[in-house]
Parts: sequence; structure tokens; C-alpha cells
Amino acid sequence: MNDWQHNDTPVSSTMLDAWRVDSGVPPEDLDLPDGWEMVIGLEVHVELATRTKMFSPARNHFGGEPNTMVHPVCLGLPGTLPVVNGRAVELSIRVGLALNCTVQRCVFARKNYFYPDMPKDYQISQYDRPLNINGWIELPSGHRIGIERAHMEEDTGKSTHVGESGRIHDAGYSLVDYNRAGVPLLEIVSHPDIRGPEEAKAYVAELQAIVVAVGASDGKFEEGSMRVDANVSVRPAGSDELRTRCEIKNVNSLRSLGRAIQYEARRHVDLYRAGDRPVQETRHWDEEGGRTRAGRSKEQAEDYRYFADPDLVPVDPSPTWVEEIRAALPPLPRARRQALIDAGGDPASCAIAVERDLDGLALAVSAAGGDVPRSLVHIVNNLVVDGAADLDPTGFVELVRMEAGGELTSTQAKQILGEMVSSGRGPAELAVEHGFEAMDSGDLESMLDAIIADHPDEWQRFVDGEAKLQGVFTGQIMKATQGKADGKVVAQLLAQKKAIATP
Ligand code: MN
Repeated sequence: MNDWQHNDTPVSSTMLDAWRVDSGVPPEDLDLPDGWEMVIGLEVHVELATRTKMFSPARNHFGGEPNTMVHPVCLGLPGTLPVVNGRAVELSIRVGLALNCTVQRCVFARKNYFYPDMPKDYQISQYDRPLNINGWIELPSGHRIGIERAHMEEDTGKSTHVGESGRIHDAGYSLVDYNRAGVPLLEIVSHPDIRGPEEAKAYVAELQAIVVAVGASDGKFEEGSMRVDANVSVRPAGSDELRTRCEIKNVNSLRSLGRAIQYEARRHVDLYRAGDRPVQETRHWDEEGGRTRAGRSKEQAEDYRYFADPDLVPVDPSPTWVEEIRAALPPLPRARRQALIDAGGDPASCAIAVERDLDGLALAVSAAGGDVPRSLVHIVNNLVVDGAADLDPTGFVELVRMEAGGELTSTQAKQILGEMVSSGRGPAELAVEHGFEAMDSGDLESMLDAIIADHPDEWQRFVDGEAKLQGVFTGQIMKATQGKADGKVVAQLLAQKKAIATP
């Protein structure tokens, strides 16, 4: 590198970056020091589950042989003209409404840049007139994250750089697959309302649940159906300033998203504390190194020269159509959580039940007048297994009734539930098969009286206050009943008998 080039290189974070890595700061030290907070905004690209592409009749499907799902429009051949996919517009409106956005007349724009995976040399997107604006998402925590916009665009092709690092600069050659070129995308841009990695993950998880619920996308990270870019900056806690942000590109799992944000925020704080500042730039998450790395600088970023696409007319959804789409929306995760909370569930368990798509089981218990909190204990703790989604609600309702009525102990109920999932059989017949018949509390009491009569000294010490002897009596009765006694009922009986015996 020549000297003049060196001098021209903009002052960047690279040197301090190196210092951070050389100092070997372990990941657990990435927490921000007191007095700092994170400011995070997310841009999420969602591939829409249409049959065909955004502007052509080529098939929209993941995983085909390269370049088998293309059309002259996808290849940008001269003389071709795009035609808007009405289904993609409808799915985009569904998501917009589910995100509490205003749906408006919108205009497609050309975003001009050169890259081989985009043979037209422009991407059709939306710029100053996006379809959906001004919405919000409410997270299970109750915190609302603002949505600035959710606009339609087309995906680009996929390039594979063939070389040791898989990066373009040391590739021997590159391959391009245009199957993805022209796949309909919705880009959802949040306000910088997110305050930490856990909240960022919760936001993306909620967004994923919403796009899947409304049938707009399969929401699969692993197939690139959802791709997240994170804008990260930091500021003194409690201030409302917006400092220089860095954009972390294409993080491809929720776990990586959290790690990338944590690393990047800490890097910014360290720069400020060293008297430096971050530069606005695009950065990439290095999963193995556990750090972000500088990409291109936004200060030198290309000008996209946006202008309205003259080949496409504006899309102006009629209020009637929008209201029809709104009326047909399925219950959304937030409403489903609220329904369970209204039925008597605690908010944390209700959030897990909806996330696992098992809230229908707890609602069935509620509809039958059953014990909803007890049903949620099973859903949260005992149904994290394959096949739980196929569990028969009637059988589940019956199981919870038997348990609440004392016919089954909680341990027995858990065992039977597992067998219901694996065998598809009902709880009553399984209980009989295991000999888990109802243990009458009258029977238990006479057995307990016999045990007390056999152990007069221990009983007297228990009555006098030697609490650990409770375990001895409980153990004796469990032995006598072969474990069928309900521990809670035994404890109640012991307490009653002790109260009577106490002078
Ligand atoms: Mn985009």
C-alpha cells in the first residue's frame, strides 16, 4: 500500500477493534458498563409464500436445481416488462395490518446499483411511497416496538464465490443462481426502539410468529425466508440522542443476532471511552470469531439514484379490499396470549403456550371449566416433545380433570401424558393399566392411623415439633401404597392429625 493511500484511509475503528480482540476480552465481559444503553433498529426481509415471483410467472420455490426457475423478466432481458403479483400485494397487506400499519397507495421505485446477482442493475423496491407505514408490534413483555414501514420489493439472485474464504475478493470464480431473483420480499423496518439483544430476539420471534400466522411466509431462517439486518448504536442511559450507528448484515439465526448486537454495542462503548467514535459503516458478523468485521463504509456508499419505475403503475388498494383482508385475518399471537391470560393463565406461561402453538389445549381446559394453571404446567414443562401438537384436546382436558380431582398425582399425570402423546390413547384407560386408581382419602387415613400406631415414639417427637419426621411418615405411606398416594393429601392428613394431637 502506498503512503498516500495510507494517509487517505479514513480513520476507522480497525485499530481499536484489534486492541479489543488482542486484549482477549471474554464474551461474558460484553455487558455494557453502567450508564450506557443500546439503541437498536431492525430491518427484516421476509420472503412471501406466493406460487410465482413478484413480477414474473417463474415459480417461487426454495431448493430447486440452480437456474431452473427463471423467466426472461428475472434475467433482465431487453424488452421484458414486469407485472405485479396481486397475491404478493395481498400477503403484504395482511402483514401490514397485523403490524397495525396504515395501508396506503404506493409506488414501485428502481434502486440502482451494479451486482452480478441482479442483471437489470436495479432492484425494484419502494422508496418514498411504501405500502405499509406507521405500525407497531407488542412483545410478550408488553413493550411496543414501532414499525416505520413495511415495503414490497424483489429478491436478488444468489452468488457463490468459489475460493477458500467464500468471499468475493479471493474467489477464483463465482456462480450465480437466479432462482431467487424476483422472489417477492416484504422489508419490515422498525424504529430504533429496541434496547437489548434479548428484546431484539423477542421482536424477530414475534414477527416470525405473525408472518407465519397470517400465511404470508414460512418464516424459515435456515432457508433464508427471514433475514435480519441490525442497526446498532449506544448512548448514555436515559438520553434521547441518536449516535452513529453501524449496520450488521444478514445475521442468520436468533442466537447470532443476540451475540452480534452484544459485541457491537460493547465495541461502540469502548470506542467512546477511549476518546474515539465509531464510523458509520456496514459490518458483517463473524460467527467463529465471535465478532463483527468492517464491510463497506456508508460514507463512501453508492448513491442508489432512486426513481419511480416507469414500467409499473402505482398500487392503490381500495378501502373495501383492505377491510376484507383485515376481517379475514386469523387470531394473532398477541390476541391469543391475551385470551389465555383472561382464562386465568400467568403471562409467562401463556407466552410459551402460544409460541409452541399449544394454547388450544389450555383453552379447551378453560372451556370445560377445568384448571387452566395446571394445564399450563403440563404445556410448559411436560409437552416439549414431538407429537405434542397432535395431542387430542378431549383427552388432555380429561387428564387435567383427573389430576385436579385427586385421582392422579402430578407425577402420575406427567407419566400418563407422555404415554398419551406417544400412543394416542386416553388417560382413563392408561391410569387403569398402571393401577393408578383413585386413592380414596378415607383409605389413606386408616393406613396412616395404622402406621402411627406402629411408631408411637416417632409420632410423639413429630407432634412435639421434630419436623423432619414428616419425611418418615410420608415414606411409610408411600411404601404401603406403592407410591400411589398423593403427597399433597398425605401432608394435609399429617398436619390435621398433628393439630389434633397437639395439647
Ligand atoms: Mn431491502
